[in-house]
Amino acid sequence: MKNYDIIIVGGGAAGFFTAINLAEKNPKLKIAILERGKEVLTKVRVSGGGRCNVTHACFDPNELVKYYPRGEKELRGPFHQFASGDTIEWFEKRGVALKIEDDGRMFPVSNSSQTIIDCFIASARKFKIEVLIGQSVQSIFKSDDSYWKIETQNESYKAGKLILATGSNPKIWDLIKDFGHTIVDPVPSLFTFNIKDARITALPGVSALVSVKVKDSKLTSSGPLLITHWGMSGPAILKLSAWGARILFGKNYQFTIFVNWLNDIETANAEMMLKELKQEHAKKAVAKKSPFEIPNRLWESLVLASNISEETKWADLSKLQLQDLSNQLTNAAFQVNGKSTFKEEFVTAGGIDLKEINFKTMQSKRHENLYFAGEIVNIDAITGGYNFQNAWTSGFIVAEAIANS
Ligand SMILES: Cc1cc2nc3c(=O)[nH]c(=O)nc-3n(C[C@H](O)[C@H](O)[C@H](O)COP(=O)(O)OP(=O)(O)OC[C@H]3O[C@@H](n4cnc5c(N)ncnc54)[C@H](O)[C@@H]3O)c2cc1C
Repeated sequence: MKNYDIIIVGGGAAGFFTAINLAEKNPKLKIAILERGKEVLTKVRVSGGGRCNVTHACFDPNELVKYYPRGEKELRGPFHQFASGDTIEWFEKRGVALKIEDDGRMFPVSNSSQTIIDCFIASARKFKIEVLIGQSVQSIFKSDDSYWKIETQNESYKAGKLILATGSNPKIWDLIKDFGHTIVDPVPSLFTFNIKDARITALPGVSALVSVKVKDSKLTSSGPLLITHWGMSGPAILKLSAWGARILFGKNYQFTIFVNWLNDIETANAEMMLKELKQEHAKKAVAKKSPFEIPNRLWESLVLASNISEETKWADLSKLQLQDLSNQLTNAAFQVNGKSTFKEEFVTAGGIDLKEINFKTMQSKRHENLYFAGEIVNIDAITGGYNFQNAWTSGFIVAEAIANS
């Protein structure tokens, strides 16, 4: 049986960040990372389209928590200990400069996730952290002498403290259930909507700043919406998928959304604006040019959907047509039939019940010397670097707690 002070199960973002911080705080600790795959940090590699969206330029912990549909309340304390600003400093100290993009997402200046992987691997080597691949943890026991015994398919391990950083892995969740922990059922988050609708089929690539609501629910969001070959994507949709992960799962991903293509302009106001345009542009063809901040092609499609022909002049619009058009612009119903994977980033909502974790230490409230970091717990965020921030923050808290224990 191999003996360590600390065993971390999972060689992903949270596992490595925890191990490195622990080793830096106490280089004497004998630490091993057990990874079931042949490679470590596989999600980091593919993250952010291969660029790794490390964190988000949101520096107020009270603001930062608002991007977490699950974990908002619990992360408040941890973010006061380690948040985005600390992440930037942490990587910079280890030679990895980060840059901010216009939308606030932060990436390595190299634009390559390999830079993050290299940083982690070099740090792990420096502190002699043992990274053991091909070690799929099959069972965990707590022995009488309060040591943890961990078995993989071909090896047994013993450690004083056990850190689980296995992401959204059902097998480990099942094992933890046997230890008296509650697992909140996993459902996908961060997905795009499948919509087949004549108004958008010819418009892939077109985007607009919109607000969206889901029929028969309180779910709303706003931001850029991107029309795709299979439906709708973009921040406004991804936010809905995250905040509505559980509700939309409950609807079997069959539901209606209302899109306001004019973002915050209400239907009655839009109708008034259209009436004014009717006076101003009486002799011009309605479909020809968008008078709003939406692309011409989208405008034309909404005009046609309002039973207004391509040649119709503004002056010839009937009251009903004006009403139809204002509805199409501000309250357009679309039927969603299923979801698709958003390739740049996706996560699972669900995991270890937050009530069973002490967020000052990330220690289990059920078992001493058992800690959690990363996506294994019931915390997830919208897209933009927040999910990694959760991995970094929880890993840092675990390391602090163990170093000070
Ligand atoms: C395609 C994609 C792109 C993404 N891009 C971004 C992004 O740019 N920015 C962002 O913030 N978030 C991104 N995310 C989300 C982010 O990757 C995760 O939130 C993050 O990786 C979670 O880290 P983790 O260490 O908790 O889990 P993981 O990264 O999933 O690591 C868990 C590790 O545990 C191992 N493991 C599981 N079970 C066992 C077992 N029984 N025994 C041993 N090892 C085990 C797994 O093999 C894995 O290596 C992306 C996700 C995906 C899928």
